[in-house]
Amino acid sequence: PTVDLGLSWKAAFQTLGPAFFTLLRPTPLPEPYWVGHSEPAARALGLPPDWRTDAALAAFTGNAAIAGTQALATVYSGHQFGVWAGQLGDGRAILLGQTAGGQEVQLKGAGRTPYSRMGDGRAVLRSSIREFLCSEAMHALGVPTTRALCVTGSPQPVRRESLESAAVVTRFAPSFIRFGHFEHFAAAGRDDELRQLADFVIERFYPECRSDTRLGGNAYANFLRAVSERTADMVAHWQALGFCHGVMNTDNMSILGLTIDYGPFQFLDGFNPAHICNHSDSSGRYAFNQQPNVAYWNLFCLGQALMPLIGDEAQARAALGAYPERFAPAFEARMRAKLGLVDAQPGDAALADGLLRLLATEQTDWSIFWRRFAHWRAGAALAPVRELFIDATAFDAWLLSFDARAAQDGAAPEAALAANPAYVLRNHLAQTAIEQSQRGDHSGVQTLLALLQTPYQEQPGRQAFADFPPDWASTLEISCSS
Ligand code: AMP
Ligand code: MG
Ligand code: MG
Repeated sequence: PTVDLGLSWKAAFQTLGPAFFTLLRPTPLPEPYWVGHSEPAARALGLPPDWRTDAALAAFTGNAAIAGTQALATVYSGHQFGVWAGQLGDGRAILLGQTAGGQEVQLKGAGRTPYSRMGDGRAVLRSSIREFLCSEAMHALGVPTTRALCVTGSPQPVRRESLESAAVVTRFAPSFIRFGHFEHFAAAGRDDELRQLADFVIERFYPECRSDTRLGGNAYANFLRAVSERTADMVAHWQALGFCHGVMNTDNMSILGLTIDYGPFQFLDGFNPAHICNHSDSSGRYAFNQQPNVAYWNLFCLGQALMPLIGDEAQARAALGAYPERFAPAFEARMRAKLGLVDAQPGDAALADGLLRLLATEQTDWSIFWRRFAHWRAGAALAPVRELFIDATAFDAWLLSFDARAAQDGAAPEAALAANPAYVLRNHLAQTAIEQSQRGDHSGVQTLLALLQTPYQEQPGRQAFADFPPDWASTLEISCSS
């Protein structure tokens, strides 16, 4: 069956040609049901107000084709945990097409593809709820991210460590192209396809690189520079929010600098800079405080892949140099915003660093500290901030230097409330909604989503969602299993 959802579609990725993908159809799932849906996402996609029809349920579970689309899975490669992994590709994500408004729509968990390798092409309800909620949460926090329209479920069993059930996330982004897409063609020495892919991305998303006179006017070097800058901005934002991605393989790095592939991610509870959120990451390669360096390492992989196009090693190096050049001031600016300061001043990095060291020593809850601090900056009492510290004298000493610094700032200090969210998707919040959903009650997903969609605004009666994690939260083990 073919359905019409009131969206118009245009060919985009398909125009690259068959070297880049395989045409196929999603594999249907029995007895689909709605789990969660985002109305802001529906509006962003251009869906009509009454979009959640039976036809949409079928289409977004992969049980009906959407008129005007031609589904496909793309091929890419990548470095996983620092090691070249060879060909990967969309093993369970199927690209339905691109809307006339410029959004690619994917179904994740919609069945096997030629790139599934040993996988079953499915995603479980648990991880699908996590990706859905986090995509929309990150968007509301202002972080560049792929978005999620909905999750649908099916009673079909899916084997992971235990038997779970299948679900599909409908997600969208202007493009899902990853660093790994470039690595794929570079590793095979297929320079024509490599160039075709780079030209495709530059034309659509980085047109300014064509006329940029920096780096000797080299468009591909300027493309690498622009990707480096976007990646720096994204990671600086992650670090400011205490967001740990968990699997920063090069195939999970968006060429648009979007946060992509939500697996074992975590928003920090207590601040441990070396926190490892991915239970499968035994070496801590993707620990929270490694993320800025890992992104840089990943950009080197991209730079290596683009070398046949850039041609000049000095230009490639200069392009990559944009990453550290951009990251430090971007992170500093985020910290300033969190502190409710606006004017950049020489001692700012040291001031922020002093506070981060205090928070690390006491493993203070990251989000609660910052939210309380923001309320204090906006005029509330200091006591709720101060009482977070066992060694309050060390905090008082830092506060003296902060007060002196703040006195020389032109800031509206209440702006800190817009940089420090009240609600983030902590593991235990997701877990509670997931377990409720697994029992057949999906209302918890929607309740949580509503809070995450307005994260900078406390809602009456919802204090528990902004509170310290319960003791069992630290026993949750989130791995790559999804
Ligand atoms: P990830 O670790 O989620 O970034 O996935 C790495 C690669 O494994 C990608 O090529 C995925 O498409 C593929 N993959 C992950 N899970 C599955 C699955 N259940 N079935 C098929 N392919 C999968
Ligand atoms: Mg992936
Ligand atoms: Mg994944």
